[in-house]
Amino acid sequence: MPENPQNTRPKVKQGVISPGSLNPKLSAKRRVLPDVEELVKGILGGDRILLGRAITMVESQKYTHQRIAQEVIQKCLPHAGKSIRIGITGTPGVGKSTFIESFGQHLITEGCRLAVLAIDPSSQVSKGSILGDKTRMEQLSSNPSAFIRPSPAGDSLGGVARKTRESILLCEAAGYDTILVETVGVGQSETAVHSMVDFFLLLLLPGGGDELQGIKRGIVEMADLIAVNKADGDRLKLAKHAKRAYQNALHLFPPKESEWVPKVEICSAISSLGIPAIWQYINDYKSHTESNGFFKDNRIGQAKYWLYETINQRLQTSFFESEVIKKALPDAIKSVTEGQQTSFQIAEGLLNAFLGSNQK
Ligand code: GDP
Repeated sequence: MPENPQNTRPKVKQGVISPGSLNPKLSAKRRVLPDVEELVKGILGGDRILLGRAITMVESQKYTHQRIAQEVIQKCLPHAGKSIRIGITGTPGVGKSTFIESFGQHLITEGCRLAVLAIDPSSQVSKGSILGDKTRMEQLSSNPSAFIRPSPAGDSLGGVARKTRESILLCEAAGYDTILVETVGVGQSETAVHSMVDFFLLLLLPGGGDELQGIKRGIVEMADLIAVNKADGDRLKLAKHAKRAYQNALHLFPPKESEWVPKVEICSAISSLGIPAIWQYINDYKSHTESNGFFKDNRIGQAKYWLYETINQRLQTSFFESEVIKKALPDAIKSVTEGQQTSFQIAEGLLNAFLGSNQK
């Protein structure tokens, strides 16, 4: 085409043509949603990549992904449940990831297949993670008998906890017989973890005994075992002292429904001191609660809890996201703050408006 001298537009130079993907099959595969049958077959065959992809579906907010995830879970359910689920909590810096690295290696030498999942409440609030997933548990994550999954992102703790619970089922179906669910001992996440595990392990530091390091009473009450970590070097003596103090403190708590008397052990994630003893306690706990029926009853109770929890969450979300409520809420809040009506009257009015709008 002859050049037009009137055309002052800058000429566009042809850029470098992209060479395309090195493996076109791979990128084409990534774009296609995974097939339910393929995922289920992969999970039951212990394929870690497909297990990971299924968990990504569980964690996804997208409706189509959720549908696939629910179908996969349904098909995996008959193969799930045959594991010991262990919750591990403790404040940041107590040594959770170092402990899991060491404890995990021990479990693998004992013949276990181990999955590590995490619930990190900080990642939803600040988008940063206290558990700092990427660089943790390096040795364990390269071991073929271990599957490590970072904590899912999400809008609410309830939502994240549900995803973790569903991921537990998938890991079990994939043949992982020991599931560790890690969380930070600051906030509500321990209660969520406690409602999805069989055994609850609290890690503490060798400090003084009586103050329980600012850990809430409720968390101590949930513990089946307190492990005083970093019992090495100069801190060994201190840890032994802390052990006695915690043992005394535990006597003040009411007996557990499981009839298990909580234990206190000292350990070092660095020297591996106490690690085999902790695993032994967990096995003792399992035999004890299996023989008195608590193990099974507790899981049934947890299933009921999650049924109610899911209903509550869904109702709450649809309430606050409904157009009627979005419109009425600002005035309702104004009425409360100005004291025109009581909170109960206003809540009642909003609920009636919501229920009425759903009947139309
Ligand atoms: P987390 O935040 O609870 O996951 O704690 P980390 O596992 O990241 O550990 C925090 C720090 O404590 C790191 O510098 C670890 O090396 C150190 N640490 C963890 N466990 C032990 C232990 O048993 N003994 C000693 N001496 N240091 C430990």
